[in-house]
Amino acid sequence: MYNRLIRHSGNKDLFQAVSLSVSALASRHPFHLHAEGLRGTGKTTILRAAGQILPPIVRVRGCVYNCHPAWPHCPEHKGLDAAAIERIGREVVPCPFVEISHSAKVGTVLGSIDLRRLVDHSRPMAALLPGTILQAHRGVVFIDEINRLADTAPELADILLDVMGTKPGRVQVEETGLPVVEMPVEVTVWAASNPDEEPGALAQVRKQLADRFDMVVTMGRPSDYRAVMAILAQRAGAAGEVTAAAEPWRGDFRDVTVDEGLRSVLASIYVDYGLESLRAVEGLETAARLAALQAGRRQVLPEDVALVAPAILGHRTDNATLAGIMNHLQASGGRETWIQADSAHGSAREAKPAETAEPGAGASRWGQWWSDLKRRLTTNKAKPEGATGGEDRRAGGTTGTGGIADPMNTAIVAPPHVAVPLAELPKEKYVSGGDGERRG
Ligand SMILES: [Zn+2]
Repeated sequence: MYNRLIRHSGNKDLFQAVSLSVSALASRHPFHLHAEGLRGTGKTTILRAAGQILPPIVRVRGCVYNCHPAWPHCPEHKGLDAAAIERIGREVVPCPFVEISHSAKVGTVLGSIDLRRLVDHSRPMAALLPGTILQAHRGVVFIDEINRLADTAPELADILLDVMGTKPGRVQVEETGLPVVEMPVEVTVWAASNPDEEPGALAQVRKQLADRFDMVVTMGRPSDYRAVMAILAQRAGAAGEVTAAAEPWRGDFRDVTVDEGLRSVLASIYVDYGLESLRAVEGLETAARLAALQAGRRQVLPEDVALVAPAILGHRTDNATLAGIMNHLQASGGRETWIQADSAHGSAREAKPAETAEPGAGASRWGQWWSDLKRRLTTNKAKPEGATGGEDRRAGGTTGTGGIADPMNTAIVAPPHVAVPLAELPKEKYVSGGDGERRG
């Protein structure tokens, strides 16, 4: 089903984000995803269908909390040694994929007293019946219309904040007559919402929750005929093409290396662009590693960072800042491609920018890219005063590198129509009161 969905310009970002999230899940690292878009763009269809491509999990036999045999965490299995776990046995089950609606009750989501065991005549006991989230351990929780949930069920939003606050998250179940149970829970949250419908975008309803999502993608409409025709044909019953999707969960993203230069770039993006939370750069690094893993590489390249940056940073910074970050990342990705092409052919010299004429002169590629980035960022400030005349600034007052105008350094041209004293204006240019006869 998932591999039969038609991919087009409007939904390709969501497919990309889903595969990164699934890949992260396979590495036991929840990477939360929020798809925003208008009704009918198919975001819910894609996310529900993606529930079928999740990798199966191995758990302690019969454990409703999905205990990992190596790290049992539930009240029943926690503290058992490996031998005891092996005596119970292990089993492979489908990866959990559960849906929470905005009308769900806290008891069903978190947990409640297991009434069946309480009234068991042979051996009555007060036990916990794990809720949806606890049963989704190591899997995915999907929430459609999360903006509405945050609005009408703030107590469910609070649970999500706990679940998504740390990796893994923690939940606390309190029931009268039972000791408080606190448990780690490792779930990946996928959500969808339409910011144009009541009660508005999630960021406006509950900003804190909106910030907990590692990736936010915007769904759009298909923009080419062929995609629309394929969708129509499929709805009419045609089998359609199957996208050959390589299993995205081969390998652990932690095995993908990030060199020191890249890490310093990420750190500097955080500092120089004033990003609000460290979560953003951590997410950027994780996503770039996941993207490299999918491309079959064990090292992160600039294009990996550029590919994932919009989904990671889009909801955490304003458009102008994101555009600035993207320009630099893309410039760097372009150079990467260009260097490869150049070394392969050795002849295409015409397009060579003068500043890169000495390849590999000591510094690493990242070092070079970083110094280039620094130079661009500081171009405006570093220009010595009076070094350039006013002439080349009149046409908009920007510097040649496309930076922001410095008001102190910009020649201001007066508007062509000079103001005229009121008394010198012809009578008909006065503001009239409608009938034009009001003057005394
Ligand atoms: Zn267990």
